Amino acid sequence: MHDTMAAECAGVVRIYSIASGEVHALRGVDAHFPQRTISAVVGPSGSGKSSLLRILAALDRPSAGSVRLGGEPIDQLSGRALRRLRRRKVGYMFQRPSDNLLPGVPAVEQVAQAGRLRGLARMDARSQAGELLGDLGLADRRDHRPDELSGGQQQRVALAQAVIGDPALVIADEPTAELDTGSAELLLGQMRLLADRGVAIVLSTHDPRVVSAAERTLSLHRGAVASETTEAGVLAVIDESGRVQIPPGELVHFPDRRAVLTVEPDGIRIRPPGWGDAGRPGGRA
Ligand code: ADP
Ligand code: MG
Repeated sequence: MHDTMAAECAGVVRIYSIASGEVHALRGVDAHFPQRTISAVVGPSGSGKSSLLRILAALDRPSAGSVRLGGEPIDQLSGRALRRLRRRKVGYMFQRPSDNLLPGVPAVEQVAQAGRLRGLARMDARSQAGELLGDLGLADRRDHRPDELSGGQQQRVALAQAVIGDPALVIADEPTAELDTGSAELLLGQMRLLADRGVAIVLSTHDPRVVSAAERTLSLHRGAVASETTEAGVLAVIDESGRVQIPPGELVHFPDRRAVLTVEPDGIRIRPPGWGDAGRPGGRA
């Protein structure tokens, strides 16, 4: 049906154990992230965006469910094989600019190192690092260390580092959260170029500029996919057990969490118990 998916997950659950019990951060997420496409992952704070992105980037493993990268299941890979795959194929940007960079290392060297890990020869890594930093408006900052750069400049270095050496998948957690408008535009422009070259881009975000730059938007609510927006419009998602999520704003109509579901000639209706045909209680009985 679809051409190669750079990343796919099926039934992904992530439960964190904490002193006071368990946190169900992801409750069975099915999603796919195609090549040549910018996908945005949106949702309120705590809805599971970062948890999902870390799992897609193979930085974390799901508690249940499966993940494929480049069509290959990664669930059975050893930690070592997973690290190798991640280094070569996945570029990742953490939300906090400083988390992406090694303290004390000049910008061009940070980026070149990432290039070498992706298999570039030393000289190529160095020259591509310089070029990328130039494209991102940092030609005159290439020898600066992280603490000599602004947050926006650090995040652009992190982007160069995430994309050097042609990874198949670039994932960025709220990449524009701490960026000024100019830096955000440079970053999104660079993401567009990459997607056009075939890379799958996954960005979590609250930023409407990012959402409008994306072709697909996956909306998370309490660790589940609430809806998916594509060129085809807004689609509700049906999980593997057949569950559909009611739009969060409509949940107030279902205080008992029970619904009457009727299969009709032109579709399926989901109504709170007691609602008449006209819609509201007290409508046409
Ligand atoms: P988002 O990125 O959408 O804000 P997260 O994936 O960071 O959401 O978090 C989802 C839920 O999981 C939240 O309730 C959060 O508190 C919890 N959580 C995230 N990371 C951890 C962790 N390492 N340990 C325990 N709970 C966590
Ligand atoms: Mg987050």
